[in-house]
Amino acid sequence: MTEAPHEAGDEDLDVLARKVFSGPIAFLKSAPSLQFLPDMAAPEVAFAGRSNVGKSSLLNKLTNRTGLARTSNTPGRTQELNFFDVGAPLRFRLVDMPGYGFAKAPKDVVKKWRFLVNDYLRGRAALKRALVLVDARHGLKDVDREIMKMLDDAAVSYRLVLTKSDKVKASELAAVTAATEAEARKRPAAHPDVLATSSETGLGMEELRRAVLEAVMHA
Ligand code: GDP
Repeated sequence: MTEAPHEAGDEDLDVLARKVFSGPIAFLKSAPSLQFLPDMAAPEVAFAGRSNVGKSSLLNKLTNRTGLARTSNTPGRTQELNFFDVGAPLRFRLVDMPGYGFAKAPKDVVKKWRFLVNDYLRGRAALKRALVLVDARHGLKDVDREIMKMLDDAAVSYRLVLTKSDKVKASELAAVTAATEAEARKRPAAHPDVLATSSETGLGMEELRRAVLEAVMHA
């Protein structure tokens, strides 16, 4: 077996990541429907997940800020794509996708979510990768499988990321990681490895930053 060619090492990428994620990052705009999407001037990495999965906390931790993504106590309310500009030394965008799977969401809200997300995923050449967040305490649910299917169908590459890993025991984390990876490996557009993270302890944050940079650098 031959070894994979040596690319930019993890250490180089970590140095770049530190610069990028401590540099300028600014809210660009909210798009409640397709006509409000920004131009495709920079590659995009989108974050998706069930309401309350810890998406806002993860985006804030990832970017070393406290109030970039608003943590909401009304799950399922925001039906918008939120765009953030990352400015230097690499230029790209982080996209906060509307949360899904809120049990009490009215049918028309669910329908609107599906249209907005599908339209975005299918028509967006700038979208390089999606990160699908999954609560480590619960593992994959059918609503997660629905967005995975949408991503597979739209041929958007994605990676599953476990959140709130600090809330489960190491043995449970190993089990949920293995079960989630087993499903990821059956999916055409999914990365075979799952990332375990915690916004509380910072677990997995370096790997997550690397995953974001790799997606936009190989754009
Ligand atoms: P969102 O709805 O997906 O944006 O989720 P939030 O970021 O608002 O988080 C939902 C709840 O989970 C909040 O009470 C957070 O404090 C909590 N939370 C988020 N991430 C973590 C984590 O990594 N560990 C723990 N223990 N709690 C978390």
